Amino acid sequence: MKASQFFISTLKEAPADAEVASHQLMTRAGLIKKLGAGIYTYMPMGLRVVQKVEAIVREEMNRAGAVELSMPVVQPAELWQETKRFETMGPELLRIQDRHGRDYVVQPTSEEVVTDIARQELRSYKQLPRNFYQIQTKFRDERRPRFGLMRGREFTMKDAYSFDRDVDAAKASYQVMAQAYRRIFDRFGLRYRAVAADSGAIGGDLSEEFQVIAATGEDAIVYCPGSEYAANMEKAEALAPAGPRPAPAHSMAKTPTPGKATCADVAALLNLPLQNTVKSLVLATDETNQAGEIVRSQVWLLLLRGDHDMNEIKVGKLPGLDAGFRFATLAEIKAHFGCEPGYLGPIGLLQPVRVVVDREVAVMADWVCGANTPDFHWTGVNWGRDLPEPELVADIRNVVAGDASPDGAGPLAIERGIEVGHVFYLGTKYSRAMNATFLGEDGKPAFFEMGCYGIGITRLPAAAIEQNHDERGIIWPDAIAPFTVVLCAITPDRFPEVKVAAEQLYVQLLAAGVDVILDDRGERPGAMFADWELIGVPHRVTIGDRGLKEGLVEYQHRRDTGATKIALTDILAHLK
Ligand code: ATP
Ligand code: MG
Ligand code: MG
Ligand code: MG
Repeated sequence: MKASQFFISTLKEAPADAEVASHQLMTRAGLIKKLGAGIYTYMPMGLRVVQKVEAIVREEMNRAGAVELSMPVVQPAELWQETKRFETMGPELLRIQDRHGRDYVVQPTSEEVVTDIARQELRSYKQLPRNFYQIQTKFRDERRPRFGLMRGREFTMKDAYSFDRDVDAAKASYQVMAQAYRRIFDRFGLRYRAVAADSGAIGGDLSEEFQVIAATGEDAIVYCPGSEYAANMEKAEALAPAGPRPAPAHSMAKTPTPGKATCADVAALLNLPLQNTVKSLVLATDETNQAGEIVRSQVWLLLLRGDHDMNEIKVGKLPGLDAGFRFATLAEIKAHFGCEPGYLGPIGLLQPVRVVVDREVAVMADWVCGANTPDFHWTGVNWGRDLPEPELVADIRNVVAGDASPDGAGPLAIERGIEVGHVFYLGTKYSRAMNATFLGEDGKPAFFEMGCYGIGITRLPAAAIEQNHDERGIIWPDAIAPFTVVLCAITPDRFPEVKVAAEQLYVQLLAAGVDVILDDRGERPGAMFADWELIGVPHRVTIGDRGLKEGLVEYQHRRDTGATKIALTDILAHLK
C-alpha cells in the first residue's frame, strides 16, 4: 500500500467525549469516526486492524473444527418469543417493526437463530458434535455506550455455538473452545488472563472470561499469584464466605416520595430485566469523620421483589446509578441474610455487608426507592439526607486483595481487566425452550447440549491500545497492526534516488510478504514520523539521501528511543 493512495487522516486533538486513551488515540489516528452514540465507522486504517483480528479468530476457529456461517442481523421476533427473550430481555435488545407492524430484533447475539438452524438441520447424533460460528454485526442498546469501540452499541462479535449429544460431549466441545481461545489471545500478543466467570442462572461451572489486563478495565479480576486461580469479581464473591454483618448503623427516615417510575423505567435505568425475580441493588458509601478521613465503608443491599405487579416501584432520582451498584444472586442474598429470599417479602430491605473502597466513582444523593405494597414499603428514602456524608460510591467488594485463595495457595491479588472473550456452557436452556432435538443412538429424541463462545472483535483493538500506548500514540503488537512496517521516504521529490530506492525496497518487501506501507506523501519528516507514531505501526524504516549515499537506511521499532543504521541490503532480513 502506498500512503498517497491510501486514506490517512490524523488529528492533533482528541474529541471532548473521549475519556480513555484507546478512544482518544483511535479517533486521533483516524481509525474510527463517530456517527452517533456508540456507533462508529471503521475508517480504512481501523478496518485493517479489525480485519487482522478477524483473520486470526477465523483461522483458529476453523482449526478448532468450527464452521463459519452468517446469520441475519435483523431477526423475526417469533424465534425470540419462543425463548421468551423478546419479553424478558431488557432494553439492550433493540426491537423494531416492519411496515406491516411485525416485530423484529437486531441481533445482540444469536442463540435463537442458530438453535432454529440446528433443529432443522441436525437430525441425528451422527451429525454431532457441530460448532457454528459467525463474525457479524451486533447491536446492543447499551445504557451507557462509552469509551469508543470498547462499549459500542453497534459492534462486531465472533459468536460460536456448539451442539452436542450429551453433557460430556458438550464439556469436551467447551474445552476445545477454551483452548482455541488461548491460542487466539496468545497470537494477539496481549497480556491477558482467562478467569472463571459466573455461568448465571443455568448453573454449572463452565464459564470463563478472557480479560485483557489494563488499569482502565471495567472489570475487577481476582487471582492468586501463587497458583492458577483466577476469577472475575462476581465469581470470586459468589465463592467467598459472607463476612460479619453488623447491624445497620442508620435507620431509613421516611421522606416524601419525590417521584414515581414504572418497572420499565427501572429496568431501563438498570439495563436489566426485573421481571419475575428477586433482585438486589447494592449501594456503598464511605463514612468519614470531621477530618474527612474514611472511618468505615458500608454497603446496603436493597432487595426489590419483582414477582408481582412491577409497575408500581417508586423511584426517585438515581444519580450515578451505574457505578457502585450490582445485582446479587439469590444464593448471595441468602448467604448475606441467612434466610430464604422469599421471607424478605415485597419490601426494600437494608443491611450492611463488608465492603472495601476501591476507587471513587460517583457522587450519590437523593436516592429514593420502595416496593409496591401500600403500608409495607419504603415510601422514599433520601440517601443524601439519611446517611452521613454519602460522598463516595465504591466498587462492591466482598473479596479483597490479601484474602486467602480458595485453593489455599496463598493470598489473592486484584487487577483490572477488559472482557474481550467469553466461553459459556449453556446446557439445554435454548434447545428445551425451542424444542430443538435430534435422534439419539437409542432412536429417541434428545435436546441438544449447547455452548456459546463470544469474542469482541471490535473491542479487542481498543483493549490492545489500553495496554499498549505512550504519550505519542498507539503501539500495536505486530499481529494486529494496520501495517507491520512503514517505509518513510524523506523528501523523495527532491531526491530521485531516494524515491527509486524506496520504491524498490517497497516492492521487495511486498514480494517477501511483509505488510508494508510506503509513505510517499512527501510530508516533512517530523510530521510524517508523528503520524506513524500516533498510528502505532510497530516497525519503521527511513530512507534519506545522506544515508543512501553510504548504502544505509534507518530502522526504529515503535518502542525504541532512537533509530539504528542498517545496510539497505540487510533490511529485508532484519524485518523478517
Ligand atoms: P460486558 O460485560 O462488557 O457488557 P458481555 O458480558 O455483556 O460484555 P457477552 O455477551 O459475553 O458480553 O459477549 C461476548 C463478547 O462481546 C464480550 O466478551 C465482549 O468482548 C464483546 N462485547 C459485549 N458487549 C460489547 C459492546 N457493547 N461493545 C463492544 N464489544 C462488546
Ligand atoms: Mg453486556
Ligand atoms: Mg460481561
Ligand atoms: Mg460476557
